[in-house]
Amino acid sequence: MSKKKDRSGWESPATEALRITSTGPIATFDASSTPGFTGDKALGEKLLLERGEVLADLQELLYANGRAGDHRSVLLVLQGMDTAGKGGIVRHVGGLVDPQGLAITGFGKPTKEELAHDFLWRVHRALPAGGRIGIFDRSHYEDVLPVRVHNLVPQAEWEKRYHIINEFERELVANGTTIIKCAMVVSKSEQKARLTERLERPDKYWKYNPGDIDERGYWDAYLEAYQAIFDRCDSDSAPWYLIPADKKWFARLAVCELLIDALQRLDLDWPAADFDVEVEKKRVAALDV
Ligand code: AMP
Ligand code: MG
Repeated sequence: MSKKKDRSGWESPATEALRITSTGPIATFDASSTPGFTGDKALGEKLLLERGEVLADLQELLYANGRAGDHRSVLLVLQGMDTAGKGGIVRHVGGLVDPQGLAITGFGKPTKEELAHDFLWRVHRALPAGGRIGIFDRSHYEDVLPVRVHNLVPQAEWEKRYHIINEFERELVANGTTIIKCAMVVSKSEQKARLTERLERPDKYWKYNPGDIDERGYWDAYLEAYQAIFDRCDSDSAPWYLIPADKKWFARLAVCELLIDALQRLDLDWPAADFDVEVEKKRVAALDV
C-alpha cells in the first residue's frame, strides 16, 4: 500500500466504488464490506471527524449562497430495510453540519390525507429550499418498495411509478437540485442482532416495531423490488449508491464522502457583499467605544 493510500484510506472514491453500476446486484452485495476503503474502524472514525469539518464548511457555503438568492440545493435520499441505520445517518452525518441548513423529512405509512393525493404530493412539500441539504428518511421510493412487495396498489399502477419518478427527478435536477440516492444494505444476520438488541435495552424499545419481523419474511421480494429501482431509476444525474450498513462507521463515512463530492461539484464561492465594504468599514471604525 502506498503512503497516500495509508493516509486517505480510500483506494477509489466513494462515488465510484459505491455506485450501483460498480457494486453489482444487491442480492450478492456484502453488507459488511467497505468498497473502495482499505482502512479500519479506527481510521474510519478519525476520518469522519476530519471530513465532517470539510462537509460543515461546504454546507455553510451552500447556505450562504442560498441566503444570497441561489436556488441550488442537495437532496440525500435514504432507503434501506428496517434496522439498516437510516436514522443513524441522519443523526451522525446530518449532525456534522449546522442544523439550520438541513431539511429532514421522514416518510412513514401515508396518512389518509396523503393517500387522497398522488404519491408525489407529500414529497413535493418536503423538497429542500435553495441553500439547504434535504435528507429524506425513506422517500418516494417507498411507493415502489413495500407498495410493490405487498401490491398495496395494483401492479398496473406501481409499474407506472418508475417512469413518473424518473421524470420527477429529472425536473428536480434541471431546477438545481443535486440528488444522491443511498440504499443502505444490512445483512440478515446483522438485522437479527439489531432487533435482538432493541428488545434487550429499554432505551431501544422505541425503535422496535413488531411489524419489522413480518417484513423480514419478505426479504427476497424486497431485494427484487430494490433491484428494480436500481435497474430503472439510476442515472448519472440521479445516481443510486449501495451503502453497506453492517459497519455503521463505514456507512457514515461513505455518506459523508458522497455529500462532500456533491457539494464540491457545485463549485461555490462566497457570495459577494450586497453592501459597500469600504463604506461599512469606515462606519464601523467610527463607532464610539
Ligand atoms: P419507520 O421508518 O421505522 O418510521 O417506518 C415507516 C414505515 O412506513 C415503514 O414500514 C415503511 O415501509 C412505511 N411506509 C413509508 N412510506 C410508505 C408508503 N408510501 N406506502 C406504504 N408504506 C410506507
Ligand atoms: Mg422502523
